[in-house]
Amino acid sequence: MNILIVDDEEPLRTLTAQYVSNAGHMPVAVASGAEAIEAFGVFDIDMVILDVTMQEMDGFETCVKIREILGERWIPIVFLTANTETEHYEKGIASGADDYLLKPANPVVLRAKINAMARIVDINAKLEKAYAELEKQSLVDSLTQVTNRKGFFDHAERCLKTAKRDKSALSVLMIDVDHFKQFNDNYGHLKGDEVLRTAAEEMASKLRRPLDMFARYGGEEFVAIFPNTDYEGVQQAAEAMCLAVAELKIPHLHGGGIGFVTVSVGMCYCVDASEFSLEDIISVADKALYVSKDQGRNKVSYSTLGD
Ligand code: GH3
Ligand code: MG
Ligand code: MG
Repeated sequence: MNILIVDDEEPLRTLTAQYVSNAGHMPVAVASGAEAIEAFGVFDIDMVILDVTMQEMDGFETCVKIREILGERWIPIVFLTANTETEHYEKGIASGADDYLLKPANPVVLRAKINAMARIVDINAKLEKAYAELEKQSLVDSLTQVTNRKGFFDHAERCLKTAKRDKSALSVLMIDVDHFKQFNDNYGHLKGDEVLRTAAEEMASKLRRPLDMFARYGGEEFVAIFPNTDYEGVQQAAEAMCLAVAELKIPHLHGGGIGFVTVSVGMCYCVDASEFSLEDIISVADKALYVSKDQGRNKVSYSTLGD
């Protein structure tokens, strides 16, 4: 760990740094609260050992400032104090410290305390990783592994904001599997699930740009969004998705269609998103989708919002 040592008394500072180094860690020793704060801009600090009684900015104030800089990120802060009064201890914890050491530090106690803190740092890192993973999972549809509805709207709202600012285009595709009730009724729900998985993977693979997104809207409906893409670009993606599903040639002899599973697609190309809401764009794409359904399915229908 990189351990920041903050102490205005030179001999003690050097001694503590020596102990930290002997314990197998990298000491970064500074002489004041102001220097401690500066150190955060230069080094990746994992732990702080902080003297309480210092000129100008004392340990309590320095501790509060460090916590402010760190924000959500937690690292252990241990006070070094010669003052054993309980009030002192209480004030240290209240200002954001996690523990204290009696000054002058004993090398064995210091090493043990660093080890204890390192254990908490480790647990904290694991928790943060698990939390990030959970957050990621909460935006993924568990059946198809594509982005779920919440993930779609989170991203789409951000895209809309950018599009409004830049007065740029924003397009949405609404996609619905054709005669899917019939498919389930004849081939079983599990087979239906498999179709949703395969079709989703196939359609998602047709996206080209990092900000394009394909997601499960719900049931057998999917949605795709294309920020700042010209009409032909979105049209190509829509046709590619529609064709890709048909070309999977998953038998479906009970839908009255071409004998395979197909999807219908509705596209809304919004020329300048600054005048419209996400609901407007989705609703126009949805109307286009129903035109595709009316005209025999397995096709893309187009509409434009704005001029
Ligand atoms: P249309 O061509 O007009 O879209 O007809 P459809 O049968 O696809 O439309 P409808 O809305 O009547 O039926 C949708 C079906 O999708 C019914 C429902 O059981 C099925 N479905 C929705 N979600 C899932 C799912 O997660 N797994 C499976 N296997 N089926 C699903
Ligand atoms: Mg439907
Ligand atoms: Mg359907």
